[in-house]
Amino acid sequence: MDKKPDQSGSDRRAVCLNCIDGRAQIPAIHWIMENHGIDYVDMITEPGMNGLLADPDRPIDEIQRKIRLSIDVNKASVLVVVGHYDCRGNPVDESEHKRQLSSAVARLRKECPIPVVALWITADWTGEQVTL
Ligand SMILES: [Zn+2]
Repeated sequence: MDKKPDQSGSDRRAVCLNCIDGRAQIPAIHWIMENHGIDYVDMITEPGMNGLLADPDRPIDEIQRKIRLSIDVNKASVLVVVGHYDCRGNPVDESEHKRQLSSAVARLRKECPIPVVALWITADWTGEQVTL
């Protein structure tokens, strides 16, 4: 974390849709960097992000705009959707969180030109890929 940000435009970038919860940020960033060979993570946050994305009645235009910006300008090569343990903005059990992640990924894949993966942040605050 002590390296200077790359300004050449050749860094490997991911875009992440995460909860606003501060506890979920660093675990998500570490997991994405380690598992996808990523230098930097563009973070887009909403309270209970996976629940919002899974609800077809909630518009996601503004989130889509930010995703497109990350892909077009920063050349993000993978999109990661996060759900996490003890989410106060989306207080459902783990199996419902994972069902929401599955719905969120399906919704995003309709318009997203890069791979979309789902990440669960566990009770010990580490990342675990969700198999869809
Ligand atoms: Zn949360």
